[in-house]
Amino acid sequence: MEHVDHVVVGLGALGSATVYQLAARGADVLGLEQFELGHVRGASHDTSRIIRRAYDRPEYVRLADSAYRDWADFEAVSGERLVTRTGGLYFCPADAPVPAAHYLDSLLTCGVEHEALDPATVRQRFPQFDVPDGVTTVWTPDSGIVHASRSVAALQMQARMRGARLRDRCAVTALEEDADGVVVQTAQGPVHAGNVVLCTDAWTNRLLAPLGAQVPLRVMQEQVTYFKPPQSADFEIGRFPVWIWEGPVCYYGFPCYGETTVKAARDVSEVDMDVDQRTFVPSADRAAELQAFMSSVIPGSGSSLRTVTCQYALTPDRDFVIDSLPGHPRLLLGLGAGHGFKFTPTFGRVLAELATTGVTSDDVSLFRADRPSLGSAGALVPSGV
Ligand SMILES: Cc1cc2nc3c(=O)[nH]c(=O)nc-3n(C[C@H](O)[C@H](O)[C@H](O)COP(=O)(O)OP(=O)(O)OC[C@H]3O[C@@H](n4cnc5c(N)ncnc54)[C@H](O)[C@@H]3O)c2cc1C
Repeated sequence: MEHVDHVVVGLGALGSATVYQLAARGADVLGLEQFELGHVRGASHDTSRIIRRAYDRPEYVRLADSAYRDWADFEAVSGERLVTRTGGLYFCPADAPVPAAHYLDSLLTCGVEHEALDPATVRQRFPQFDVPDGVTTVWTPDSGIVHASRSVAALQMQARMRGARLRDRCAVTALEEDADGVVVQTAQGPVHAGNVVLCTDAWTNRLLAPLGAQVPLRVMQEQVTYFKPPQSADFEIGRFPVWIWEGPVCYYGFPCYGETTVKAARDVSEVDMDVDQRTFVPSADRAAELQAFMSSVIPGSGSSLRTVTCQYALTPDRDFVIDSLPGHPRLLLGLGAGHGFKFTPTFGRVLAELATTGVTSDDVSLFRADRPSLGSAGALVPSGV
């Protein structure tokens, strides 16, 4: 049987970064992907993802520090420009589930440059937003955009250049642990691995269930809409930032990025689904709801041009999983909980460190697989992308 030291299952963003980081360490690594590389059935396709340090907990702010460093390292190695700084606005209305004070405290604690703005100041500096009174706004100049599909392709190419083997259209059908590793059953025959990293997002429980394990993931079809502003110059980078509306329903959006449209979406559609039943047909109700929000808060954003679907696999507490599966030390899990893209290179590095040495210098204790909140499917906490 073919033997490799490390198998990474799933070559979306997180798996591609893990394969790259393992290969960069000189490790013997095979990446397996059930569909074609760069496919649109998962969570890592399309153009833009928000990157930000503005999180309500210091653990995420510190992990974001690592992510900015890891993106910069990868940009230097690959020669690709993947991160674009735009600045970011985080709107916290009075009924926000997480008060603005939590963001301000964690940014202050971690020494991140930021400013609290009242609605009049927002309207003056960013007249594109019609922010109602009573909204506290947090501005962070270092927020921005990461290019999603280009990042994934660059990670895969750099992994291959360092000796990683990537096999697409090769579904993993079962994992069988033995005395010195894991037999990975695939559509193209079995592979024996020293250890396995699962970056399978919405599909994760298919492989865990036969092992008697599961992560309580809620899988939803999400959608993002591209709007065509009549005055697109007002929405160019430099004049218009990335933004998140952290109300009881959370919305987020981007400036023009590669085309004269602005992208916006609702975070957490609550359109539950099974991955096999994904329709790729956007919800008309969600589209109408978003159009109403945009017309009210960003009146010049124009009308909808196209809507693209995507997929969330959310943990009950919306926190990541970066850990070995309890009771299965040879199986590592990386789950991005619907806001993981910005941390892609850090997921890859940390998972590669854990796979090769068992330890990592980043504090990932918040993301343990045996935390109590993963024991049951509790209420979802909207916390933005
Ligand atoms: C609409 C939308 C907007 C988002 N916006 C942001 C944002 O602004 N900022 C941010 O930080 N994050 C954002 N996210 C979240 C982020 O994009 C995801 O957390 C991240 O892309 C997840 O990557 P992944 O590799 O874990 O999952 P995926 O990209 O889904 O990859 C999982 C891969 O595993 C493969 N696979 C599964 N099972 C098997 C198997 N048995 N055998 C072989 N292969 C298998 C799948 O085919 C798939 O390719 C957004 C997500 C969506 C959907």
